[in-house]
Amino acid sequence: MKTIGIIGGMSYESSIHYYERINNQVNELVGGLTCAKMIIYNVNFEDIRKLMLSNEWDKIGVELASIAKTLEKAGADYIVIATNTMHKLADYVQSQINIPLIHIADCVADKCKESNISNVGLLGTKYTMVEDFLKNRLRDNGLTVTTPQNEENINEIDRIIFDELCKGEIKDSSRQYYINVINNMIKQNDIKGVILGCTEIEMLVKQADLDIPIFDTTQSHIDSIVDYSLEKKLIKR
Ligand code: GLU
Repeated sequence: MKTIGIIGGMSYESSIHYYERINNQVNELVGGLTCAKMIIYNVNFEDIRKLMLSNEWDKIGVELASIAKTLEKAGADYIVIATNTMHKLADYVQSQINIPLIHIADCVADKCKESNISNVGLLGTKYTMVEDFLKNRLRDNGLTVTTPQNEENINEIDRIIFDELCKGEIKDSSRQYYINVINNMIKQNDIKGVILGCTEIEMLVKQADLDIPIFDTTQSHIDSIVDYSLEKKLIKR
């Protein structure tokens, strides 16, 4: 069994799911008292959020790379960053370590391809929806990606993530807001599936809320992490 190195805490509401589900899934597959070998470095998200808001991404990159190195030294065989947004820095973090980083976009793209769906909507933080780092990685995997274009929608989706979901608050009004945005993308862009490109959105929007398939980055990431942990899949580098 391989040892997983997780950079977590962004937010801890979603990192909890990584810890719990990786262990559950490994145990279901192997049985007995087996659980996953993993090292979690939980950051103080408040510090990171301040650097995000002051646009000091270089400092966040240095911090995440230093954590990745610490996890590598501690014996991790591979690294995962348990948030989509921080994949803005994935290439830099990968360049600073000698073990592979499992990119969340590759994991969710594999799920879309398994379902033969290529035209997808993407919801996430403002960074994830407006910037290209995640969209391009999904496009490199053969997907056509649409994000909400209306500025009010982008800001409200982002606000709900940081003001509510990252604090564990689940509101019906916010769920309805997300559903309306997705339904508009179905009408206007003919999307055939939607990627929940933020590790907290799965707590809000469920498959039963929509008429098209959901591709959740948290669960897709976790499924790949488990496969690599049990060496069911070889890590592509
Ligand atoms: N967990 C979120 C994501 O998947 C947002 C928090 C962050 O900015 O890292 O993008």
